[in-house]
Amino acid sequence: MKDILKPLVDIVGEKAVSNHEEDLWYYSRDPGVLEPKRPDYVVAPKTTEQVQAIVRLANEEKIPVVPMGNGMSLTGIVRPLKGGIVMDMKQMNKIVEVNDRGRYVVVEGGVSQGQLKAYLEDNYPHLRHSIPDAPPGTTIAANVALHGQGRLSMQYGFNSDMVTGLEVVLPNGEVCKIGSWCMGPYWFSKGPSLPDLSGLFLGWLGTTGVLTKVGLRLYPQKKLRDVEIFVVDRAELVEDIIYRLSHTEMTEDLTVWFQPKPLMFKGNYHITVYFTGDTEEEVEFKRKLIWNAVQSYIDSKDGGFMGIAPMKSGLLEQPQRTISVFADVPKGGGFEYSGPITLVENFPEYTAMFEEIAAKYNLLYAATIRVIAGGHAMMYGMSFAFNRADQEMMDRVKTALDEATEFALDLGGIPWKPNVSEQAMAIQRMDPSTLSLMKMVKENLDPNGIMNPGNWEVN
Ligand SMILES: Cc1cc2nc3c(=O)[nH]c(=O)nc-3n(C[C@H](O)[C@H](O)[C@H](O)COP(=O)(O)OP(=O)(O)OC[C@H]3O[C@@H](n4cnc5c(N)ncnc54)[C@H](O)[C@@H]3O)c2cc1C
Repeated sequence: MKDILKPLVDIVGEKAVSNHEEDLWYYSRDPGVLEPKRPDYVVAPKTTEQVQAIVRLANEEKIPVVPMGNGMSLTGIVRPLKGGIVMDMKQMNKIVEVNDRGRYVVVEGGVSQGQLKAYLEDNYPHLRHSIPDAPPGTTIAANVALHGQGRLSMQYGFNSDMVTGLEVVLPNGEVCKIGSWCMGPYWFSKGPSLPDLSGLFLGWLGTTGVLTKVGLRLYPQKKLRDVEIFVVDRAELVEDIIYRLSHTEMTEDLTVWFQPKPLMFKGNYHITVYFTGDTEEEVEFKRKLIWNAVQSYIDSKDGGFMGIAPMKSGLLEQPQRTISVFADVPKGGGFEYSGPITLVENFPEYTAMFEEIAAKYNLLYAATIRVIAGGHAMMYGMSFAFNRADQEMMDRVKTALDEATEFALDLGGIPWKPNVSEQAMAIQRMDPSTLSLMKMVKENLDPNGIMNPGNWEVN
């Protein structure tokens, strides 16, 4: 590989490039279970023009470029599998515009979830975005690049469904405007009624271009929020309960969680129901409809609401920090989760298999599953915590995650933020016509294969 340190310094300045071993060490890994891969350079652009110049240089020299937000997607998808440049986007951190009445925001490609949340709380307290439970430093652009989900996904779908426009640097260095702002000043729609070109970039894990700006829908921030947890001890009841609760259209967010520790949780399935309102009256009205929806399960003693007063403040936190705390349960700070998306009706079968796999490999797990878009599907976070100093334990986690994904795909599910082996499983199962369209997209957009190579390798 040609030495490109000097041209990179010419583009972004000395302080924003590194090929020092300690920096490369850091950028070789994520907190997940997959082995590190060393980049050759790390570069942190500040402007779209700098991103363009870096990508042009990389394209001329056929050097890989891996866009990176906060590196917290856990499935190894920001590891530079073929070396080259890791492009750290965090310096592109401007909130460009909020359209208050149109309820959308435009952010640069490195703006974090926590930054946008704080900005809205300070300046537009009546607006909010669909914040994931990921650490607050994770970025909005990365989250839509992997079709993430957040606190409003039950109502409005994947966070990528909430995109209203994109600015993308293509692998040849050109900038492309996607959405209504391609022909006017406003970022209110990513596609309809134009051909929706955002699909060339959303879900591609940075393999088709670099998102330098993202337009995102905002939603009303209600004044009050409350939560209830409904508990059953039979997985086969979960689908019907979710169906009844989602039918009320009263819930802001609906998640299911189960874990074997502490022991009081073992064998139970907890359905967490969030609901909001601007007045006590509105909240109580929604609570009543939610209770009514599952009353027959309470009457038959098949389920009931849990007393949650001491846990409430933690549950209402956004993002919910207890999820990150789980990472250090076995000490050693390793944490990774398999995230298939399946129909809600597959819950009992997938859950039983997951618990069996965890027992087979003797692994501690915690599972949180979010219901998407009013009950169309469920997005799983089946987490294994592990000790990074214990290679044998990490190998068990890897095998268990692969087995869990294979099973989910056999049930008709799809993988979410798939690691390389899950991508291969998906490609293997894909209809040839779909695969050939993906090939056409990739070959035309990125003929030199420089963008996050090793991921979505359809060629
Ligand atoms: C405790 C915990 C809880 C989590 N909870 C959730 C959750 O509730 N919902 C959820 O969706 N996720 C969750 N996650 C997973 C993950 O952290 C998020 O999806 C997060 O959005 C990833 O952001 P990042 O900036 O760390 O992405 P990165 O890991 O940096 O990047 C992810 C992918 O996007 C690509 N990419 C990054 N920036 C760009 C760009 N500007 N242009 C093009 N491609 C780009 C990268 O190449 C990579 O393929 C959780 C993770 C943890 C650790």
